[in-house]
Amino acid sequence: MNNDELRNELTFLRDVGFTHLDIRQAATVPAIVEDSEAKTLLDDLRAIAVVCEKCRLAGSRTQVVYGVGNPNADLMFIGEAPGRDEDLKGEPFVGRAGQLLTDIIKAMKLTRDDVYIANVIKCRPPENRNPEPDELEACRPYIQRQVEIIQPKVIVTLGRFALQSLTGKAYGISSARGNWLEYNGVKVMPTYHPAYLLRTPSAKKEVWADMKKVMEQLATEA
Ligand code: URA
Repeated sequence: MNNDELRNELTFLRDVGFTHLDIRQAATVPAIVEDSEAKTLLDDLRAIAVVCEKCRLAGSRTQVVYGVGNPNADLMFIGEAPGRDEDLKGEPFVGRAGQLLTDIIKAMKLTRDDVYIANVIKCRPPENRNPEPDELEACRPYIQRQVEIIQPKVIVTLGRFALQSLTGKAYGISSARGNWLEYNGVKVMPTYHPAYLLRTPSAKKEVWADMKKVMEQLATEA
């Protein structure tokens, strides 16, 4: 590990709340992650996340909802935060909005096992309230590190919170959706959250237009 990588590693561990370093817990991410290493690195990070107590959501969660899917996925979907169903099951997007996301993935001729799905907030906010700025801040290192490990070709952010928390910028979702952005060299396609589509089915056509752009991009990089 060179000095920059060591600095990056120590910064990450500090950001996720370590005050003392047990060297066996350090999950180093090399600059280039080999496909065979990604699963182990994600599992190491999961071990840190499931005992996280960095914010108040730790006190009310049933379990941490870390992420699921292919550790070498070309396509990553990033949502906001677990709801009741996800908190009980420990898996993102398994409720009604999750079923809609699964349908979108199928319409793209993919399965949930082909892609990786995670949220910017790993623990359920009580009563499904919006995440607070300090909770988003506390949780951000996990999604950043998941992206670093998976190294997807394209990220789809679902809704405003996912977009703003990942990029750290105050984008509005209606104007940003459908337009390519970049996060640390990875192409990002912002689109509406599936829960919004449940309330506003007429917006499905916009999401499908966004997913067509994603499919075209993935095909050019295949
Ligand atoms: N909404 C999200 O943003 N994430 C989930 O996992 C479920 C619902």
